[in-house]
Amino acid sequence: MKRLSGKIALVTGAARGIGAAIATAFVEQGATVYLTDINDSAGQSLAARLGEHARFEHLDVRHETDWQAVMSRVEALHGGLHVVVNNAGITGFEDGFVAHDPEHASLSDWHAVHRTNLDGVFLGCKHAIQVMRRTQSAGSIINISSRSGLVGIPGAAAYASSKAAVRNHTKTVALYCAEQGLPIRCNSIHPAAILTPMWEPMLGDGPDREARMREFVQDCPMRRFGRPDEVAAVAVMLASDEAIYMTGAELNLDGGILAGAVAAPSASSE
Ligand code: NDP
Repeated sequence: MKRLSGKIALVTGAARGIGAAIATAFVEQGATVYLTDINDSAGQSLAARLGEHARFEHLDVRHETDWQAVMSRVEALHGGLHVVVNNAGITGFEDGFVAHDPEHASLSDWHAVHRTNLDGVFLGCKHAIQVMRRTQSAGSIINISSRSGLVGIPGAAAYASSKAAVRNHTKTVALYCAEQGLPIRCNSIHPAAILTPMWEPMLGDGPDREARMREFVQDCPMRRFGRPDEVAAVAVMLASDEAIYMTGAELNLDGGILAGAVAAPSASSE
């Protein structure tokens, strides 16, 4: 018996990185998975590789109309939805360096990060609750926050703020669902330094790449980057009925970074 047999799941930002690893692990564990992303070509080809239990849908997490359209199709086809992973996120450095410190960040750059990282999670939780309630599905909502949601990051203020808000909203959603008598759990995962394409602009491909990698994990007790499949393993547990009594919880996945007193955080050590 696989751990997610019979479950219908939706993962945002699933075309690559952590989202792709979660979608892959969910399929391996017997779920039918909707991979969603704004990167249609990468999302479609991953879904095709994963086989008949994976489908791709275009879903920009910032747009409520996209959420409504995709949720309607899932509901019409399956009559329920059991797992939503709100994973899509941006740092604000995707197109190169821009000021993201509290003194110099522009309001539009601040808003752009919050629109994806926070509005996207708000909409994902909202539409997950609605479809799970309508279809009487026992559900698990998993929000991907960050270590940056637990500490300040001077050079990435919007990222840290948005991830802290995701942490708090997760608890609100968990309490709301419990208060409503809905069998819907909501938990957050707080990764740090997981080697995905998100890091590429910061690592570069020059001769100093290896040195930069070592530098980025020098405050990590395990002295290495984490892997996307290591995040996916925790997501599988939260999605499964093994975690049936777990809601409003936050799980750190950071090689031990937050276990002790940390030095002052730097701009890039998310
Ligand atoms: P990646 O950048 O590798 O992948 C993110 C995916 O999300 C991309 O396919 C991207 O598409 C997509 N995406 C971006 N914006 C949207 C949007 N508006 N709607 C839907 N999809 C979108 O990121 P990671 O896999 O590294 O990160 C995944 C999550 O984990 C994020 O929330 C991140 O903040 C969090 N996290 C990551 C850490 C790490 O070290 N990697 C550490 C802590 C937290 P496109 O490529 O076209 O932009």
